[in-house]
Amino acid sequence: MKTKAPDQVHRGHAHDVDLEDTFDFLNTDDTENGFPVDKLPTLDAALEWFVDRGVIHVEGANRVRAQVSSRDPLMERDLARVHAVRSALREVAFSIAEDRAPETRALDTINSTLHARQVIELVPAPDGCYVDHRHVGDPVDDALARLADPLVAELTAGHPDRIKVCASDTCDWIFYDASRTSRRRWCDMATCGNRAKAARHRAKERAAGQAAQITTDAPTGPAAGA
Ligand SMILES: [Zn+2]
Repeated sequence: MKTKAPDQVHRGHAHDVDLEDTFDFLNTDDTENGFPVDKLPTLDAALEWFVDRGVIHVEGANRVRAQVSSRDPLMERDLARVHAVRSALREVAFSIAEDRAPETRALDTINSTLHARQVIELVPAPDGCYVDHRHVGDPVDDALARLADPLVAELTAGHPDRIKVCASDTCDWIFYDASRTSRRRWCDMATCGNRAKAARHRAKERAAGQAAQITTDAPTGPAAGA
């Protein structure tokens, strides 16, 4: 939009990011069957994701695309930054879930990300004023700062003890435990929870089978089935 009549004043544009969006971002660094799967493997994929979640304007994403289109090193640098901030935020989430101190490097990365935040300002309106924000820096930095915010807010005034990592050995899904008792252990009971239950059941059966075999001196081999 180029011009605006006073009565059509644009009431800011909130980029409402909540903790779920932040966790979704962290979980784009995914693990499937124990193997890493990056859902944001290219800068283009990352920009698309940012636009989709409303943390970057389409124009901002296009500006970045135009800037980097002919220069691979720039593209690599921006993508590396997206991945570095994602890893740093994951490290903080893991440290909270594991009751330990995070790596200093991760905090340094997040702190410099937070500095790139938009500038909040008051804007006059016919009936008073409203809060708007200005994008001062690089759109990618801006998007990353916005995605870091909810985690910081949760640490300040939320329930960081509800930030958890799936207890499965083959899944590193980060989630918010909104259960009443705050004792949720799995990203999803239907998948990881059931897999864990099934694994426990198999281990029990194997142990029982082995105990039986010791007495009958049966030949041993790898346990069948998975
Ligand atoms: Zn899981």
